[in-house]
Amino acid sequence: MHTIDMDLVEMTLDVMKYTIDRISNITPEMGAPKNEEELFRIVGQTVTPEGIGGENAFQLFRDVLVKATVPIDHPRHLAFVPAAPTRAAIMFDLVTSASSIHGAYWMEGAGGIFCENQAMKWLVSLTGLPEGAFGVFTSGGTAANLSAMVAAREAWRSKDSQNVGKKALMLTSHGAHSSIQAMAKVIDADVVMIDCEEENLTGRELQNAINELEEKDRNRLFAVVATGGTTNAGIIDQLDTIADVCEKENVWFHVDCAYGGGALAAPSVRHLFNGVERADSITIDPHKWLFSPYDCGAVIYKDLELAKNAHSQKGAYLEIFKDDGAEGFNPADYQIQLTRRIRGMPLWFSLAMHGTNKYQQAIETGIELAKKAAKKIEERDNLELVRPSSLSVVLFRRKGWSPEEYRDWTYKNHREGLALVTPTTWKKETVVRFCFINPDTTEEDIDMILDTMD
Ligand SMILES: *Cc1c(COP(=O)(O)O)cnc(C)c1O
Repeated sequence: MHTIDMDLVEMTLDVMKYTIDRISNITPEMGAPKNEEELFRIVGQTVTPEGIGGENAFQLFRDVLVKATVPIDHPRHLAFVPAAPTRAAIMFDLVTSASSIHGAYWMEGAGGIFCENQAMKWLVSLTGLPEGAFGVFTSGGTAANLSAMVAAREAWRSKDSQNVGKKALMLTSHGAHSSIQAMAKVIDADVVMIDCEEENLTGRELQNAINELEEKDRNRLFAVVATGGTTNAGIIDQLDTIADVCEKENVWFHVDCAYGGGALAAPSVRHLFNGVERADSITIDPHKWLFSPYDCGAVIYKDLELAKNAHSQKGAYLEIFKDDGAEGFNPADYQIQLTRRIRGMPLWFSLAMHGTNKYQQAIETGIELAKKAAKKIEERDNLELVRPSSLSVVLFRRKGWSPEEYRDWTYKNHREGLALVTPTTWKKETVVRFCFINPDTTEEDIDMILDTMD
C-alpha cells in the first residue's frame, strides 16, 4: 500500500499554486542577474547530505532565485529572440514530465510520439515540402541544424566513395546564425561565408561563390545553408533561386528557419519563403515563434531515409526497439539524441486546444507590432529606422548616440525593471533591435520604451 507523504502533498500544492500564479501573470516582474557570490550569500548551501526539505528549497527558488532570471515572456522583453509560450503548452509541459514517456522509440512512446507527429504534420504542411517529407522535434535550432548537417554530409559521402575521406565544405552567408559555424566545427567541416552586404543571399551570389571555389574545394562542397529569417534582421534569403543553384550543382539545400519558421503560417509574408518547399532539410524552432516552452526545436527532411541512414543507432540492447510489431516512427532515428523528452507534446496540446487559426493570428500580431513600431520610430525626430521592419524585427538608431550610450540605456531600462531591449550591430554601426514574438505586447509598451530614448 502507498502511504501518502504529507510533505509531498504540501509541496505539490505550493508548486501548483506558483505555476498557476505565474502563468496567469502576463507582466511578471522583470528579474535581473546577481553575481554568484551574492546569490550564495542569500541562499546558502542547498545540496546537503540530509536535504533542506522541499518547502524550504522551493521558497528559495520562488523568493530569490527566480528573481535573478529574466522572464522571456515579459511583454517588454524585445531582446534576442523572446518567447511567449501559451498557457496550454506550459501546463502540458508539466503533464509531459509527469507522464514519464521515453521519446526515442515508438515501442515505448507510441501515444506521445503520435501527438508529436500530429503537430509535426502541421509544421511540414506549412513548408509545402512534397509527400514523404517529415521531421522530428529536437532540443532547439542548434541541434536541428547539426542533425541536418550530419544527414547532408552522410548523404554526400554515400553518393561517392571518394568523398569518404574528404573534409566537407559548406556555403552560407554572413547573415547565418552562429550555430551554423559552431556545428560545422562539431562535424569538422569548413564553412565559406558569402558576403551579401547584409541583405539577402540570392542564387546569383551563390552561383558566383561556387564558381570562385578552387576545384579541390568545389569537390568538397556538400551543402548550402540559407536562412529563412536572419536572427539579427529578419531577412529571408532568396530561397527559390538558391534552390535552382543547389539542384543544378547537386548539393544539399538546408534552410534555417529557427526564428522565422513561425512566419510560414502567416499569409501576409508567406510568399517571401517561396522556394522553401524545395529544401532538403529545414530547421524551425517552436520555442521561438510557435509559443512552445523551452526547449523545442524541429528538423524536417525531404527524404527521411537519408536522415535515418545518418542517425539510426545500432546497439545490441536496442535491437528489440526496431521490431516492436507496431512498425511505428522512431524519433531517435532522425536526429542526434537517443533518449529524448517528448518535447513536441506541449506544442501539440496547445495546437489541439486552440486550433491553427489562433497561431496564424498570433504570429501576424508579431509582424503587425513590428510595423507599428517602425511607424512610431519614423514619427520621432530623435529616432531613425535603419531599414524597413522585416518579419518581426525592427532595427533603428537613436541619432547621436555612441555605442556606450546604447549600452547604458539597455542596462538602465533593465535595472529599473522597465524593459529588456538590447543593441546590435548593423553594417558595423551600433543600433537598437526590437524582436516581437509576444502577442500581449501593446502599442503602449512600445511607446514606454521609445520614451526612454528622448
Ligand atoms: C535561434 C536560432 C538558432 C539556434 O537555435 P537554438 O534553439 O537557440 O539552439 C539557429 N538559427 C537561427 C536562424 C536562429 O534564430
